Amino acid sequence: MLDIKWIRENAERVREVARWKRIELSVEELLESDESRRKLLYAVEQLRETRNKTSQLIGRNVSRGQFLRVAEMKEEVSRINDELRVKEAELARTEDSYVRLMKLVPNDVSADTPVGRSDDDNVEIRRVGEPPQAVFPFRDHVELGNLHRLFDIARGVKAAGTRNYYLTGDGALLHRAVQQLALDRLVEAGFEPLDVPLMVRPEAMEHTGFFPLGEDQIYRIENENKALIGTSEVALVSYYANEIIDVAQPIKLASASVCFRSEVGSTGRDVQGLYRVHQFAKVEQVILCEADAELSDRLLDEITGHAESLLRLLELPYRVMAVCTGDMSQKTYKQYDIETWMPSRGAYGETHSSSNLHDFQARRSNIRYRDAEGNLRYCHTLNNTAVASPRILIPLLENHQDEDGSINVPVALRPYLGGRERLYPKT
Ligand code: AMP
Repeated sequence: MLDIKWIRENAERVREVARWKRIELSVEELLESDESRRKLLYAVEQLRETRNKTSQLIGRNVSRGQFLRVAEMKEEVSRINDELRVKEAELARTEDSYVRLMKLVPNDVSADTPVGRSDDDNVEIRRVGEPPQAVFPFRDHVELGNLHRLFDIARGVKAAGTRNYYLTGDGALLHRAVQQLALDRLVEAGFEPLDVPLMVRPEAMEHTGFFPLGEDQIYRIENENKALIGTSEVALVSYYANEIIDVAQPIKLASASVCFRSEVGSTGRDVQGLYRVHQFAKVEQVILCEADAELSDRLLDEITGHAESLLRLLELPYRVMAVCTGDMSQKTYKQYDIETWMPSRGAYGETHSSSNLHDFQARRSNIRYRDAEGNLRYCHTLNNTAVASPRILIPLLENHQDEDGSINVPVALRPYLGGRERLYPKT
């Protein structure tokens, strides 16, 4: 949750950002509940103090034998206790509504974030690589998948319902290969690899900004107070929850994990193939660093650069987009998306998302460090996809196909596929 002092001083900005991010929040109601809560807290503290003083006096008067005075004071204490019960109940109710509203407050956005309503208003900042020329009729990834027996969607649906799939043979190997390549590159770049819990407590979701807004995207586990992660960012950031950490050097973590998404609200969207599924794998990069806006902005470029260099290793054309306010989530301060060329769409499709959260997650997760003056401060957190599969298999198969249906294996992937340079159709 953001700092209430900052919210009080920047109420108009909070209203504006909530409007941009389409978050229903009454800042007036929040400020009123903050004021009532502070008044009630003061009143409760005063009453407790008077009651304690009176109780001490009762003790003294008993020893002096002033029984009439003692009786009056006991009556006074009982009246204060009655009043306290009422005020404490009122304070608890006000605290509840204050906390509920605070959980809806959006993170601020950077000055260079484009203002817009949806992903149509995202701004392209660079394009790398040329989409291949269609000198023969391109097959889409579903056709290529059938030709090479890379996945089986019909059986996935049979076993697990819509938006599920099996990866088979070279499909399963490619899925592993892109993840291992990404993880190896991140370890080389100094990231510590972690294998993380896939089921977490709801608090971890709330503290990393996925609950309450976004809760409908997350699967809950029946009969257990747990939820399945939609991204390992939740587990990686929560690793340090309620700790005072050393970020003199930024902490860089990487994880390859399965991710689960309900995709509520996507009915009818991207129903073909492997683009939008309920379960996928993602190699994620997470950084925790000092609360220095210049530093975290630089690190955002760095993690975006890691994803870009991986796409270059996969020999895929892509573009980087500055994400606009209307396409950002509550927690994000600044975001780039990377979109990779997907011939079957005749368009770039989102494959990566790179975000700077500033201290939004650290405040909620209570992750602090000591600055040079010894003061405790909340750190900044950042995250980015290194690779997400099977979505990345779409551009990988489609961009590298040949007229005979064979698929060129990018040089960097070959060691992970037994040195094979090309995959040939199985049918
Ligand atoms: P996000 O964490 O939502 O920013 O997503 C990061 C990346 O994960 C996206 O750019 C996609 O490559 C991938 N991804 C997200 N949701 C899905 C999904 N439902 N199915 C397949 N891949 C997904």
